[in-house]
Amino acid sequence: MERTFAIIKPDAVQRNITGKILERIEANGFKVVGMKRLHLTPEQAMGFYYVHSARPFFKDLCNYMASGPAVVLVLEKEGAIAEWRKLMGATNPEAAENGTIRKDFGVSLEKNSVHGSDSPESAAFEIPYFFNALELV
Ligand code: UDP
Ligand code: MG
Repeated sequence: MERTFAIIKPDAVQRNITGKILERIEANGFKVVGMKRLHLTPEQAMGFYYVHSARPFFKDLCNYMASGPAVVLVLEKEGAIAEWRKLMGATNPEAAENGTIRKDFGVSLEKNSVHGSDSPESAAFEIPYFFNALELV
């Protein structure tokens, strides 16, 4: 069984669609093994997204991620990393396939409602950034 890291981002939490997104996650066979709600500081968002620190969208992205509460998750499934990326859809909601979460709920390229690890290496950094072993059940 593989684990991946996911975020229900502030735009979605703010619109009260956390439950709708969790429903998609569970309906698609993911087991939620870790979950908490938190409000990141800009510095915590910068640490999380450090791989993008040279990109022009970095500052706005980190401020947006710190703009309100988010829900962080660890999801378990066979092939969880690729499966969750598929269910999320393309980064830009306008380009995302029908039936994906970003297509159905995303607001813009930045406010695209969900995050997912893009590789085993990212998952190995992102999961312990937010969770300790006792919190994954
Ligand atoms: N993002 C943005 N502008 C861009 C590209 C990305 O605001 O041109 C934001 C968007 O919220 C995205 C996040 O930065 O989800 C991380 O970008 P990445 O390329 O890693 O996309 P993802 O892996 O989330 O699909
Ligand atoms: Mg990414």
